[in-house]
Amino acid sequence: MKLILLGPPGAGKGTQAKMLVECFSVPQISTGDILRAAVKDGSPMGVKAKSFMDSGALVPDEVVVGIVEERLVKSDCENGFILDGFPRTLPQADALTKTLAVLGKDIDSVISLEVDIEALVVRLAGRRTCSACGSGFHLQYEPPLKSGICDSCGGELIQREDDCEDTIRNRMSVYDEQTLPLVEYYRKAGTLSCVDGMLPIDEVGKAVRTLLGGSV
Ligand code: AMP
Repeated sequence: MKLILLGPPGAGKGTQAKMLVECFSVPQISTGDILRAAVKDGSPMGVKAKSFMDSGALVPDEVVVGIVEERLVKSDCENGFILDGFPRTLPQADALTKTLAVLGKDIDSVISLEVDIEALVVRLAGRRTCSACGSGFHLQYEPPLKSGICDSCGGELIQREDDCEDTIRNRMSVYDEQTLPLVEYYRKAGTLSCVDGMLPIDEVGKAVRTLLGGSV
């Protein structure tokens, strides 16, 4: 299965990708996760990406295209992959099509998670992650038992720097301007399906798996 999950920040792409990894045994490729790891490591790519990410802007195409090109040739992508957060611009989509063609592959499916922007601001602003084990929480929808402390490992819960309200709004307008045109791009290519991303997580998951022909 070679899948792209499209949708604005906070639409649930990462959550759904993780559920699909278990169901289809293919890797999740999240450019946001790869970039955050590079920032944490202080690698040259991370240093270059940090200021873009902190302001909610997109990291330059050549950087993310390079990341994905390197990742797609790894052996665990042989039977497929789930792209989460890539492509985000038309040049990235074109670059992906070309890279896959060289590998003799093509995208099977593009699923767009449709969500209400105001609801997304609440979702993102309340998001907290354990700094030790990476478990996710939400102040309103899935609060930890003890404020600021991870239920699983006792680690400190932190807010992503780009999850403050001003940056969230900037990320939404970047999405509208640069990423939304991809919905039309993949509709024309005949690979697009849309799912209501406002449904509860499990129901979104069922709808996605049904579209992909997996067990519900
Ligand atoms: P995400 O975790 O997918 O919301 O990504 C977090 C941030 O990483 C974004 O706001 C961008 O700054 C950067 N980023 C992730 N994926 C891409 C991409 N495909 N193109 C450009 N920037 C990206």
